[in-house]
Amino acid sequence: MPVELRGIALGLSREMAIDYGIVQAMRAEQEKRDAELAEWRAKRAAEQPAYHAAIRRLDAVNDPLGRVVLDLHQRVASGSSWRCEGCDASGYDWEYPEWPCRTTEEVARHLGIEDVPNAWRVDRPADGSLDAPE
Ligand SMILES: [Zn+2]
Repeated sequence: MPVELRGIALGLSREMAIDYGIVQAMRAEQEKRDAELAEWRAKRAAEQPAYHAAIRRLDAVNDPLGRVVLDLHQRVASGSSWRCEGCDASGYDWEYPEWPCRTTEEVARHLGIEDVPNAWRVDRPADGSLDAPE
């Protein structure tokens, strides 16, 4: 659907137009979107135990070098996720990467720890139960 905003014509799908609040979803569309969202949330929730178990396996690593590197790249709570403050900072616009960072992912792979999630796939438990041990 073509949309014109401030003289700029944009080609948007109806889904995108609904997402951005440009048009309102019809009842049937909204019911379908609600069902898809509920399905997505259920699937994501079902994935979390495996991811959380992988994080606990990382916490239990006792390989000396692996432990040193993992402790350096330990997760720090940041809202509904974590960030790594162990990655070296550089540049004026530096932002800490999300955790697990690439270093943590590589160490996990080297140690044979499977199911370590990408940062965008894992939910940090709101009760802090999976935050880094002190
Ligand atoms: Zn890191």
